Amino acid sequence: ISSTMQDFPLSITAVLRHGSRVHAGSECVTWTGEGVRRTGYAQIARNAERLAAALARLGVRPGDAVATFCWNHQEHLEAYFAVPAMGAVLHTLNIRLFPHQLAHIVNHAEDEVVIVDDSLVPLLARVVDELRTVNAFIVVGSGDASALEANGRGVPVLRYDDLLAAEEPGYAWPELDERAAASMCYTSGTTGDPKGVVYSHRSTFLHALAVQSASLEGITEADRVLAIVPMFHVNAWGLPYAAFLSGATLHMPGRFLQPDHLTRFISAERTTFASAVPTIWSAILEYGSAHEIDLSSLRVGTSGGAAAPRALLERFEERHGLRIVQGWGMTETSPLGGMALPPPESERGSAEDLHWRLKSGRVAAGVEMRIVDDADGELPWDGASVGEIEVRGPWITGSYHRDPAPEKFHDGWLRTGDVGTIDDRGFFQITDRAKDVIKSGGEWISSVELENHLMAHPAVLEAAVIGIPDPRWDERPLACVVLRPGSTTTAAELAGFLDDKVARWQVPENWAFLPEIPKTTTGKFDKKPLRADHRDSALK
Ligand code: ADP
Repeated sequence: ISSTMQDFPLSITAVLRHGSRVHAGSECVTWTGEGVRRTGYAQIARNAERLAAALARLGVRPGDAVATFCWNHQEHLEAYFAVPAMGAVLHTLNIRLFPHQLAHIVNHAEDEVVIVDDSLVPLLARVVDELRTVNAFIVVGSGDASALEANGRGVPVLRYDDLLAAEEPGYAWPELDERAAASMCYTSGTTGDPKGVVYSHRSTFLHALAVQSASLEGITEADRVLAIVPMFHVNAWGLPYAAFLSGATLHMPGRFLQPDHLTRFISAERTTFASAVPTIWSAILEYGSAHEIDLSSLRVGTSGGAAAPRALLERFEERHGLRIVQGWGMTETSPLGGMALPPPESERGSAEDLHWRLKSGRVAAGVEMRIVDDADGELPWDGASVGEIEVRGPWITGSYHRDPAPEKFHDGWLRTGDVGTIDDRGFFQITDRAKDVIKSGGEWISSVELENHLMAHPAVLEAAVIGIPDPRWDERPLACVVLRPGSTTTAAELAGFLDDKVARWQVPENWAFLPEIPKTTTGKFDKKPLRADHRDSALK
């Protein structure tokens, strides 16, 4: 017997059609610094049609890459639909990359067009003459673009609004193969060179369906979703497409990512759902300890990209009644691989509830996960055995763009580089990145665990723990600590604070008090510079 089902392609075009028809009146709301711009989903679709027509007129063909160098806003959302739906590939560039990395990535992806915010023109202009494949720049906004216009290859610099005004809506979206490339994102290179991950229409559609489902983020038409996570950070974690599928309103913060702006936006527009990395959540919490803020409209905040410290979850709940739920993922996994949603029997606010929320996630339906030991043998799901996490599934990458990287794969599974445990109900705990684990005297020390405890100390604002070479133990932990303004403490006091929380041999004897922890381009603690600075600082 053969299946009688239609072979209907899962595409971003289908997401666009659904959102703009069924949820025509749902809105994209962009924060301007003083107020908002509102645009309904039907209008977003019309603008996407005009943008596609303009790109086609510029020579963009199916399979070509069109890059964005933008904050989160309406026009970026229009590009999220127009570029993939016309059969081209949306390449979201991280605006915080070092210039040489930015040029390398644009050339590697062979971007034909770059859509750039006027406020970001100076950043892009620094590398404009190194971009070998770009045939047009499209500037969003009416600000000065002369720095780009001065490019040496005479590449035209056009205005987004002018291009759209010159086109009619009604672009005939082509029939697409669901396995065709839709968008791409480079890993940020925290633990190696940037690698290109290319999402397909099918993977994007399935990921968006999963994201909005109740077993992950549970987004509905009643939600107003604030995407603080940048649209260049793994497709804003799937929120834009999930919003079009569910009819949720999208709140876009533009370039205003400071806590005063974010909290004003949230209270003015009654945001119900917000997603950000832990460093942004910490900044909001810190701001809220000195200013009146109103987060009462938020039903949940999600955190991902790095472990959310226990103190962060506790303090949001205590001070603002806000539940932070964390998810786990990476560029290679679209990104969502799991959310740490407590099981139904655990009561909100209980110690058990917090125990579950401190997990990195529970394996998402659609994703398969396993842990393996150093000899690639599979380990049990007992919540105790620690190994490298491997994943496979329809939105997990199976290779990299023009970079085979066989060491990243294992019998069809992606080696995540994350180390952790899985329990018998599929809750997993990332104890470290493989490269961050501290190997002391043949035993492993989790840097994440030490950081978690330290950040619960009232005087500590940030803590990052790294391994430094040690003649006797191979490696010992060094704790880099940033104190809260006006607070004082000593290494001895902090070591004493850890004493009853971790095994005595895990307590660091090396301490560094710093003005700040360096951050990666996506706002995570960056341990590379810390390691370079402290390579020789072991106590002798
Ligand atoms: P980069 O590797 O450059 O930071 P990604 O955004 O792809 O870029 O980061 C993915 C990594 O982030 C994961 O492999 C993992 O180490 C870390 N991560 C993501 N979510 C969590 C989480 N909830 N807890 C701990 N680590 C996380």
